Amino acid sequence: MFTLVAMLLSLGISADGAGAMDAMNEISQDYVKLVLGMGRHDADYVDAYYGPEEWRKEAERAALDLATIIGKAGELSKKLAELDTSSLDAMGKQRHLYLTKQIKALTARAEWLSGKKMTFDQEAERLYDVKPPEFGEDHFKKLAAELEKALPGEGSLTTRLEAYRKRFIIPPDKLDKVFKAAIEEARERTGRHMELPSGESFVVEYVTDKAWSGYNWYKGKAHSLIQVNTDFPITIDRAVDLACHEGYPGHHVYNALLEKHMVTGRGWLEFSVYPLFSPQSLIAEGSANFGIDVAFPGEERMAFEREVLFPLAGLDPAGVDEYYRIMELVRKLSYAGNEAARNYLNGTWDREKTIQWLVDYALFSRDRAGQRLKFISKYRAYVINYNLGQDMVAAWVNAQGGTADQSAERWKVFERLLSGPMLPSNLEL
Ligand SMILES: [Zn+2]
Repeated sequence: MFTLVAMLLSLGISADGAGAMDAMNEISQDYVKLVLGMGRHDADYVDAYYGPEEWRKEAERAALDLATIIGKAGELSKKLAELDTSSLDAMGKQRHLYLTKQIKALTARAEWLSGKKMTFDQEAERLYDVKPPEFGEDHFKKLAAELEKALPGEGSLTTRLEAYRKRFIIPPDKLDKVFKAAIEEARERTGRHMELPSGESFVVEYVTDKAWSGYNWYKGKAHSLIQVNTDFPITIDRAVDLACHEGYPGHHVYNALLEKHMVTGRGWLEFSVYPLFSPQSLIAEGSANFGIDVAFPGEERMAFEREVLFPLAGLDPAGVDEYYRIMELVRKLSYAGNEAARNYLNGTWDREKTIQWLVDYALFSRDRAGQRLKFISKYRAYVINYNLGQDMVAAWVNAQGGTADQSAERWKVFERLLSGPMLPSNLEL
């Protein structure tokens, strides 16, 4: 015992700190098994798992019902709350907070699956550790008026945007070539600034009939399956967006870095499972979207689009700058989608009113608005993770010195964000 204490002290860890860590390792195991247990009730819940296979089997055998899961999650929360964390270092304390919030989210999702009603904002707070901002119609009217100036002409703004975007659709037979070129470039750029885990790899698949446009399925051992939904025509901006968001330095890299630093490096097995409806998703989606700007800042993206992707897709590169200026204005309108979700899920608006709002302010065609409503119904308050997540990650990275003019520092700060137990509330400035 003495030797152990002496050894721990020489490592700068107190015996109590080790005790608290042991307790958290146990809680972590139980938490992973509860997440796996949720998979039986919610097919979308377990987004990735590459921990011990035995735990998966154990969860299957246990076949816990929701009430039992809620009860067990409550016990874990209590254990965490009662744990003396005073001797833990900063990372240990952050782990404690991380487990606390992830379990809070698990409880909320299990309660919702059991029929408990939650407003959009309650769901955002309990599942994603964030209070989403609210914007009124005037806000979107002003943004739409800016876009009106950029896209003058007859008919509604939505119709004009739709017609304009048609000029930038990637012909289906060129899709794979364009995507592969974008992914290769994103990977090369990321590899220049981050040490990617050795042997990291991915495969790309084209699928149909999904509620999303792209998806990264992380398989462990730094391997991902990236799926692209071809239900709707795909415009050229989606190539770099998707390459970065799903791949480099987005989801694929985030998962691989967590595996390397948290799971392999520290043995913190709570990171071997990724529950979709949890605070981790705000970090995941926010960083995946912001990662586009990190890998392809402003003019660099324009140059790559002009010189490589537009010619590969057989599109006229003369339109590059204008197209991306317009797309940036459209991005600002994406918060209109959050208001649609808030009002639809709270029951304030019916289906027709929500679709009309999505057409008028998020500028979706009616078809796409219908698809978006399907996404909202399935993923609910999850929608905030993309735009709010992106804006929160961007503000945080900038505040840490990773501003657009400090490229090397930006990559360093961004890598730090992707490598540890970061929570949305940690990003608040
Ligand atoms: Zn994503």
